[in-house]
Parts: sequence; structure tokens; C-alpha cells
Amino acid sequence: MSDWSSRVTNIIDAHVHGRDMETAQRLSAICDATGIDRMGIVAIQNPEEGAGLPAALYAAAQHPQRFFVFAGLNHAQKLSDGAVRTPSLAEQVDLLHQIGCDGIKMIEGKPTSRQKMDVPVTDPYFADYWARVEELGTPIVWHVNDPEEFWDPEAIPGWARERNWGYGPEDVTKEQLYAEVDEVLSRHPRLNVIFAHFYFLSADLERAARFLDDHPTVCFDLAPGIEMLYNISRDPEAGREFFTRYADRIVFGTDISAGQTVEEATIRAGIVFRWLETEDEFRVPEEADFLLGPPEDGVIRGMALPDDVLRRVYRDNFARMASSEPRGIDPLAAADYCDEIARIAADLSGIEAARTEAANVAARLRAI
Ligand SMILES: [Zn+2]
Repeated sequence: MSDWSSRVTNIIDAHVHGRDMETAQRLSAICDATGIDRMGIVAIQNPEEGAGLPAALYAAAQHPQRFFVFAGLNHAQKLSDGAVRTPSLAEQVDLLHQIGCDGIKMIEGKPTSRQKMDVPVTDPYFADYWARVEELGTPIVWHVNDPEEFWDPEAIPGWARERNWGYGPEDVTKEQLYAEVDEVLSRHPRLNVIFAHFYFLSADLERAARFLDDHPTVCFDLAPGIEMLYNISRDPEAGREFFTRYADRIVFGTDISAGQTVEEATIRAGIVFRWLETEDEFRVPEEADFLLGPPEDGVIRGMALPDDVLRRVYRDNFARMASSEPRGIDPLAAADYCDEIARIAADLSGIEAARTEAANVAARLRAI
């Protein structure tokens, strides 16, 4: 039950998370156990602590064939009203490209990000950024929104409430966030975006289809959001039709974290494999990780997708949007960048620069 593996080889998982200095070892063990060939580590920055991105850079520098890095932006200058100096967002795109990152991870568009920094992505603050990533064709993994249940105190799952992912009338609405994305995509129609978690449209496949039709350069990833599997399982036939029709627009992802045990990660990947590949009717195993919720939450019905659809979802679409092979982190350039992240953290929060993850990683990168 927990050791469900795929019948397809050379799988790229577009959406996993690093954690600490052991990220490379832990994710490699998960690759070996799940049969996943390569992983895209999506790494938002924690500018106050100088953490998040550096650990992912270190992992990718250790295993240049295996890990892609999608790097988050650093908003310390905006968060400090200009008191802390950072490169502009467009300059950050260039710097991240120069050190070997494969793309950008955005979480700007998750309501919790708006609670922290209430700047819509349509704001002039982002204007040069959007122009630059469109010009370069930079792949972006972008988390926008959350499941509709998160705005409903009656319906929000316990695991989400515990993370403070419950939203109320004071928060930005789901439709407002979608409208902002539409505005950005109409200003920049060539953006190379993989919207995380099926863009939270799994409960409305007609709307999902309209969105993909209207924006031919974007894709959805399959990182659960377990509600995505439950929603689409209500009508697996309609799911199969959607996945076949949009086989070039869907990218495999699991949201596996380097903080998970190999068993939890194997279960997580296995749920997605089994949903895509079989006609089985099944539930989330008891031993699954916390964010997948308990088995009683719902039934998953497999879509039994054909191999040519699976190959595109598992690998070809990611390879087209980003690359089939990681660009490769330049350890010395990445070390300099990490020193800057450490300096920014010290300026922003008063933390001692030398004690940040960024400073630790900078030293290790120079020793490679
Ligand atoms: Zn994620």
C-alpha cells in the first residue's frame, strides 16, 4: 500500500522542499526509494533569518545532476520601507540566473504572503520583475491562492487550521488573487509559469480549462493539496478527459519535504502515482504525513492515464518549461550570494550574520 511505485522512468518532480544542511542526502534517499529521477527544489526566502534558499543551493551544488533550484525573491527592502538595501527584483532575477538557479519560486499570491506584505503582484513594485522574467523566459513555480475551504471556518481541514491557513473577511479573497494574476498575464502574455497545486481549480475543471486555453504559456503542477485528488475523483472520467486534453499543460509534483521520513515521502509520491496510473479506488494511508489529512477525509479514484500522457506529465512538460537537466550551481558565486543574504538578514532583524543558514552555506560552498 505504501510502496506504490510508478511504471514510468526518468520522472522529474517539479515541486519539493529542502530543509537544512542534510537536504541533499535526505532528498536523494527519497529519490532512490520512490524512483523519482530528478527534483526541483522550490525555495522561498526567509529574509529575517537568512534561510530557506541557501540550503537548497547547497543541496544542488552537492548533487548537480539531480536537483533544480527555483529560488524565492528577497523582499527585505520593501519590508523595511527602504531601510535595508537589496538588489531590485529584476536584478535578483539576473543574479539568481548567474549563480545557476533554474527558475523562480513565488509564494506571493498565497493569502499568508499578503498578510505579511500587502503588495499585490500588479503593484509597480513588481513591474520590472515581470518584464525581466518575461524577457528571459525564466520558469516560475508560482503558488497562488489556497483551497476555497480555507476561507470557510466550518469547512477548513484541521491540518490547515493548525498552520494558520484559515482566512476571514479581513483577508484578500480568492477571486481578487485570481484577478491580479489575470492582470499580470494580460500585461505579460509570454510568462513561463507553472502554477502550483493545480492553481486550486480542481473543483471546477471547466474554469481550469478556460484558464489554460486563455493562457497558452502556463501549466499547472500536481503537488497535493489533497483536495485536488478528492475533487477530481468525484468524476474520474472527466478527470481523464481533462488530463488527456491538457497533457502538455500538467507537470508532476509531490510537495515532498526533506524534513519527511522516506516512508512518508514514499507514501506521498505513491498516492499521486496510483491516482494517475491505475483505476484503483483507495484512501490516503493511515501512515501518510500530516498535511494529507486522515483516510476518512475522502476517496481517491484512479484515472488510468495512458503512457504517452504520463510521460509528458512526468517529464516532458517540465523539460520544455525549464530543462531536462539542472543548469548547475556555481559554488563560489552562490557563496557570495549567500553572504549577501546573511548581511540582509542582519540588517533586517538584528540577527548575527555569521549565525545564519546563509553564512553556514557560504562557508560550505567555498569548501566544495
Ligand atoms: Zn510546496
